[in-house]
Amino acid sequence: MICPVCKEDMIVVEHERIELDYCVKCFGVWFDAGELELLLESLGLEESGFRMEEIMALPEKRATEEVRKCPICRKKMRKVTIGHTPAVLIDACPQGDGLWFDGGEVNQVIRQLVDTSPGDTQGQVVTFLGEVFKARE
Ligand SMILES: [Zn+2]
Repeated sequence: MICPVCKEDMIVVEHERIELDYCVKCFGVWFDAGELELLLESLGLEESGFRMEEIMALPEKRATEEVRKCPICRKKMRKVTIGHTPAVLIDACPQGDGLWFDGGEVNQVIRQLVDTSPGDTQGQVVTFLGEVFKARE
């Protein structure tokens, strides 16, 4: 799959049964529909409420950031924000093919979820971030 920012081939990184497309140049990450839920579940963060259909229903944000095209259907993606303090601006395919996170944004979102979630997810999350997104830390 081609990175919507760099326009170069991405690599596939695997974490348990989840395969994410990852750009080694800009560190952006593409989640196919359903993969975000699988990832959050694997980290014990499934209560977060970040689900594809909810993200797709969010109002589009006005942003100065460049418009990206969905790497699957090539339609212009919508800018939406998820999380809080600070909210993270991500790109969502208008027909639900998936979500694009710029470099470092997945880490930001996961860290916010860990901070607000009960129970001990810290260890798993640190492992995940270390294994999958080495290049960014
Ligand atoms: Zn699409």
